[in-house]
Amino acid sequence: MRLLSATVAGPILAPLCALAEKQKLTNWAGNLTYGTKRLQEAASIEEIRSVVRSEKKVKALGTRHCFNSIADSRENLLSILPMHGVVALDADGHTVTVDAGITYGQLCPQLDSKGFALHNLASLPHISVAGACSTATHGSGERNGNLATAVSAIEFVTASGEVVKLSRKSDGEVFPGAVVGLGALGVITRLTLDIQPTYSVRQFVYENLPLSQMKDHFDEIQASGYSVSLFTDWQKQRINELWIKSRAGDGEAFASPQEFFGARLATRNLHPIAELSAENCTEQMGVPGPWYDRLPHFRMGFMPSAGKELQSEYFVPRRNAIDAILAVERLRDQVSPHLLISEIRTIAADDLWMSTCYRQPSVAIHFTWKQDWPAVRRLLPIIERELGPFQPRPHWGKLFTMSPRQLQSRYEKLTDFTQLARKYDPTGKFRNAFLNSNVFAH
Ligand SMILES: Cc1cc2nc3c(=O)[nH]c(=O)nc-3n(C[C@H](O)[C@H](O)[C@H](O)COP(=O)(O)OP(=O)(O)OC[C@H]3O[C@@H](n4cnc5c(N)ncnc54)[C@H](O)[C@@H]3O)c2cc1C
Repeated sequence: MRLLSATVAGPILAPLCALAEKQKLTNWAGNLTYGTKRLQEAASIEEIRSVVRSEKKVKALGTRHCFNSIADSRENLLSILPMHGVVALDADGHTVTVDAGITYGQLCPQLDSKGFALHNLASLPHISVAGACSTATHGSGERNGNLATAVSAIEFVTASGEVVKLSRKSDGEVFPGAVVGLGALGVITRLTLDIQPTYSVRQFVYENLPLSQMKDHFDEIQASGYSVSLFTDWQKQRINELWIKSRAGDGEAFASPQEFFGARLATRNLHPIAELSAENCTEQMGVPGPWYDRLPHFRMGFMPSAGKELQSEYFVPRRNAIDAILAVERLRDQVSPHLLISEIRTIAADDLWMSTCYRQPSVAIHFTWKQDWPAVRRLLPIIERELGPFQPRPHWGKLFTMSPRQLQSRYEKLTDFTQLARKYDPTGKFRNAFLNSNVFAH
């Protein structure tokens, strides 16, 4: 076990400690400095159990891509990123079991080389599977559930150090409560994911889709590809870029006309933020490629998105998509000065209790902000108020300002979830300030 803390490390770890002392321990975007420098790394289930047993408070940490304090701790952070193996691939059962610290970037090429694929991916492959599923991270595609919907079994270390395994098949009653667990049930050690035969994807980008066309043809546009993203800066009554990811061989290949609802087919690869280099992005222009190198917008090994940024995202029922989008569009003059880009995606409903898409086919309206928290903090309540009629659920890993009361009212299984969490963690070992105020204080 590696202990990266100035206060408790032994002499062998001195260089690491010196580093930890000098560098602040921050999230990926650098907008959050964690409340402790005590970061321990575990490389085995036994090491996790030992940390969990010996500490009063522990917070599991993935690849630190959340923008809010859901992964924060004032006491102890525990990373299991050294546990990143593929444990078992069941070709007949169409499942893969992985160590929870594995990232999608590590997993996907291995899966593909064995002839298998996942159903979907987020915009970036850099995130850990456990961290992504814990916050209901999603990609796009009206028939695709979020990434956590692929989880068919979960193993975690509870507050007492016990190892618990739950599966979709055997624990149907509580399993949907454990998958999007917000880090509250325990330290996830392994996950089993549904897989399918590998497939290739072609990605087409269109520029300047008139807002009026988006409004009148939203359903056709969403149905045009396996995964569809609309990028807009909310200016000039247009969607700046329309990304259509078309899955080869599913009988619904996208024909890629030069013009699509008034938008023009791009003649070069583009970044969602047009000024940034498309080198960071997955190949476009209809070039076929493996699912894992087309479904994310950003390439492994390259900076995803802008880097110095903040993010927020709100999920509303798919049936309210147009009204919700237009509600944000009306705020364009307030939003645009602080925005790098917005992305609009659709996600299928699921049955995971704390999922942002619980029992609700959803449209997600995302904001990549310039890194100016005072300005964004002033704006978010305005956006939340405008989206209010659609009962928005904020992304669990991004920035929002709505009250815990409002947030909690959007989750009908909240009480069942907190009871389930208390069963595995009666004293709140895995709870932090974010969870206490947003989820448990009700
Ligand atoms: C550039 C960028 C692009 C993004 N794109 C998307 C996108 O396309 N779609 C989307 O939905 N989101 C997106 N996100 C948000 C991101 O997917 C989520 O924040 C995700 O949770 C990050 O995973 P992580 O491994 O970094 O987790 P962390 O931020 O480290 O942790 C997240 C949560 O998971 C818990 N956790 C982590 N590991 C474990 C474990 N082993 N056991 C128990 N709990 C654990 C933590 O305690 C915490 O509650 C993006 C973020 C960035 C920075």
